[in-house]
Amino acid sequence: MTESPFVVPQARRSSIAVDVGGVIVGGGAPVVVQSMTNTDTADVDATVAQVAALHNAGSEIVRITVDRDESAAAVPKIRERLERLGIDVPLVGDFHYIGHKLLADHPSCAEALSKYRINPGNVGFKDKKDRQFVEIIEMAIKYDKPVRIGVNWGSLDQVLLTRLMDENAENGSPLSARDVTREAIIQSALHSAALAEETGLPRNRIILSAKVSQVQDLIAVYGELARRSDHALHLGLTEAGMGSKGIVASAAAMGIVLQGGVGDTIRVSLTPEPGGDRTREVMVAQELLQVMGFRQFLPVVAACPGCGRTTSTVFQELARTIEDDLRENMPVWREKYPGVEGLQVAVMGCIVNGPGESKHADIGISLPGTGESPAAPVFIDGKKAGTLRGPKIAEDFQVMVADYIEK
Ligand code: SF4
Repeated sequence: MTESPFVVPQARRSSIAVDVGGVIVGGGAPVVVQSMTNTDTADVDATVAQVAALHNAGSEIVRITVDRDESAAAVPKIRERLERLGIDVPLVGDFHYIGHKLLADHPSCAEALSKYRINPGNVGFKDKKDRQFVEIIEMAIKYDKPVRIGVNWGSLDQVLLTRLMDENAENGSPLSARDVTREAIIQSALHSAALAEETGLPRNRIILSAKVSQVQDLIAVYGELARRSDHALHLGLTEAGMGSKGIVASAAAMGIVLQGGVGDTIRVSLTPEPGGDRTREVMVAQELLQVMGFRQFLPVVAACPGCGRTTSTVFQELARTIEDDLRENMPVWREKYPGVEGLQVAVMGCIVNGPGESKHADIGISLPGTGESPAAPVFIDGKKAGTLRGPKIAEDFQVMVADYIEK
């Protein structure tokens, strides 16, 4: 076969596989979706409920904050409660400032977690920095856990940044301040990974991340980090923002990096509206991977945007109902009908693109547009399978979709 003349995703970058509590990150494994709670980890009830909700929504790894003795003490209780609920999602402890101390003082927390996240920018300061970092690595070795060395733009190692800025100035400033900062992020991650290895942590227990808040910085930093290292990479835009801005920025940045073959696990960080649903970030991460064709989580429901040819909202409502139905039934259907995630459903608003798009789907319906005869042809596997009429078109089509899945 000749090479495709079209733009296609680059081959996945080869990275070292890391086992995070039974979930493989890197080494060519499917890109893993993960998320993070925003509850006080010391509140066991609230944290268990949110971890369960995130896991049920599809999060394959969940990170929790471990910021003080009370939260460290709660971790084994959370693990135990989740086990009683039959949930074995790997829990990652997010440590800042005093992680070395919390892990040493709370062995059952160190044991219950499936991975430790270390921020090299705040693990300690000056001469204590490397020592405290090494203490966490020693705990990871002792408890047989992987770590994520998670550098963050907002808490970057200032000593390293200042040194690189000074060196750049001494050399006549060939790099912009922004590029020096990008370089500092990369060097912080690579230096820490080398130190972890020197301490004795095997290479297959190290994941790296370098989170920034601007799309172009993320693309630049991950491109370079991927070039200089073969560690598995955790991808995410930090402080992506609220609402559509956060979703668009995350999708644009991570979409481009993933298209380049880089990224072994992703988290979409969305600032939730007060009282908003935390699981939204899981849904967005899944949808990002799915629309790019990297993973399949849910059947695709293609719906046209509607226009002046559709004055009713029947087809939008039907598309929403079908999608909600599929999402709700997925846990059961996935067990019963392997491969159901690959199903494609089309719900179209009129005759212009309706029949054509419906024929491309596994099952599709072309609803009547304004002025068209009140009949809705249904297509199955590219062929017309019948026509629905009357006030119950939506319900009848739902039944046909369920029948199709069962068959
Ligand atoms: Fe408009 Fe029909 Fe196209 Fe939908 S399929 S956008 S209703 S022309």
